[in-house]
Amino acid sequence: QRTPLIAANWKMNGSAALVEEMVDVLTALPLTEHAVVVCPPATLLTRFPAVCNFALGGQTLSHEISGAFTGELSACLLQEAGASYVIVGHSERRALNGESDELIAAKLARAVAAGLTPILCIGESATERQQEKTQQVLARQLDAVYASQPELLAKSVIAYEPIWAIGTGESATPEQAQTTHAFIRQHLARYNTQSAVRVKLLYGGSVNADNFTALFRQADIDGALVGGASLKPAEFAQICLAVT
Ligand code: 13P
Repeated sequence: QRTPLIAANWKMNGSAALVEEMVDVLTALPLTEHAVVVCPPATLLTRFPAVCNFALGGQTLSHEISGAFTGELSACLLQEAGASYVIVGHSERRALNGESDELIAAKLARAVAAGLTPILCIGESATERQQEKTQQVLARQLDAVYASQPELLAKSVIAYEPIWAIGTGESATPEQAQTTHAFIRQHLARYNTQSAVRVKLLYGGSVNADNFTALFRQADIDGALVGGASLKPAEFAQICLAVT
């Protein structure tokens, strides 16, 4: 009953030329409706065609509605630029921009209020995994967002991205990822059992065209959040076709 989703996170990469290349490649594919979302740098959003066989998303947003917040982007601005999704709480923003669990909860609420679908990123570091704190960390990250606003779960997509697997070429094994996804879904049932069954859980961290099929075969893995491989149109296309 859960339809798959492949999300591309270009991070601070790409160009107008890559937009054109990606549009050429993806529009030639028989993509299932709502199966793919591309999150480029915000300045490139309006370079995509207004109507397309895939959706667009932002990589972060402000928790404020509007005002004197130099350099920030609101949910409404992203939406006006063509986004229908937005990544919230990516580990790079948690680590490099000091985003707290509380701020991420506020951003997610703002996204939903504006009609954007948030892709909430959670994940443990290598040290936390070694110390067997993975479940504790994930529970904290989820509780911060959903314990006080459980109704937002039905509007969310969640991406499990173990930090040690991001950009390292060292993906979690399908078994490792499945075990963690099953834990996440079970934990989410605390907020709402029906939403926990319905919510899409994406895996992210060194996903490529070679390892994706085995990950996607797992019961609780509904798709992927792809970084590096989403900058290579032919490889990204292969990943998208695997869910079509
Ligand atoms: P990589 O696919 O490059 O490991 O990046 C994953 C990621 O952080 C996507 O948000």
